[in-house]
Amino acid sequence: MRLLLLGGTAEARDLAARLVEGGVDVTSSLAGRVARPRLPLGPVRIGGFGGVPGLVAALADYDAVVDATHPFARGISVNAASACAATGRPLLRLERPGWEPDASWHYADTHEEAAARTAALGTRPFLTVGRQELARFVPALGALPTLARVVDEPAFELPPAWTLISSRGPYPLAGELALMRSHAVDVLVTKDSGGRHTWAKVEAAGVLGVPVVVVRRPPAPAGIRTVAEVDAALAWVRGLG
Ligand code: NAP
Repeated sequence: MRLLLLGGTAEARDLAARLVEGGVDVTSSLAGRVARPRLPLGPVRIGGFGGVPGLVAALADYDAVVDATHPFARGISVNAASACAATGRPLLRLERPGWEPDASWHYADTHEEAAARTAALGTRPFLTVGRQELARFVPALGALPTLARVVDEPAFELPPAWTLISSRGPYPLAGELALMRSHAVDVLVTKDSGGRHTWAKVEAAGVLGVPVVVVRRPPAPAGIRTVAEVDAALAWVRGLG
């Protein structure tokens, strides 16, 4: 049984480690978006497949697929659904649940909508939406003293009013409070990432009375068996024989 694990998340690394320990022939696949990615245990391939045709061709080397990519990386999830349907490969989606909704949060369906809501809520935003989405906030927030936190620096020149921090979590609550206080942040923008890894900023916003704008996850491909826990994904793989 040769498994392709579409990764790039903490859950994918956890699953890869447990599959490798269990002797499963698993190859992890990363998009290659991050300059120095945290590598999972076991064999790793990096970079796109070349759309659905490329993924269909790659699946000749695999018997099954687990899609444990980021909840906002829907392009690869849609491609995996199509390629597995075309080749008859079993596909499991491992996706951590979004955060329990909070009545005080301001939800947005797109990053552009989030940018407009942010501009209406404050004047010193804190953007934690990832490098790839930052440009979508420039039209609405370009003139504001915005704090943007990313892992790798964006490819475009940021507005002069913006401050960029390049770092990688997890971020403890004390640090998030200190950062948000020192920049006098008055509105926080986040994706609905779910999990604990990036939760402290939301907690800090609650402590400081800072409004939170949450970008909803894009819709997932329909009809794909989905689990929320690494244990359940492990059980599914074992069940494949
Ligand atoms: P995407 O829109 O789903 O993927 C775009 C293309 O990247 C895919 O069509 C595929 O290229 C390639 N790709 C994505 N994940 C791959 C993987 N695990 N292995 C091999 N190729 C992969 O995803 P994205 O552009 O990377 O990110 C979209 C959103 O997700 C952004 O909001 C980003 O901040 C967030 N995000 C993504 C990741 C990640 O690991 N991708 C991690 C954290 C956050 P081909 O069509 O050529 O196969």
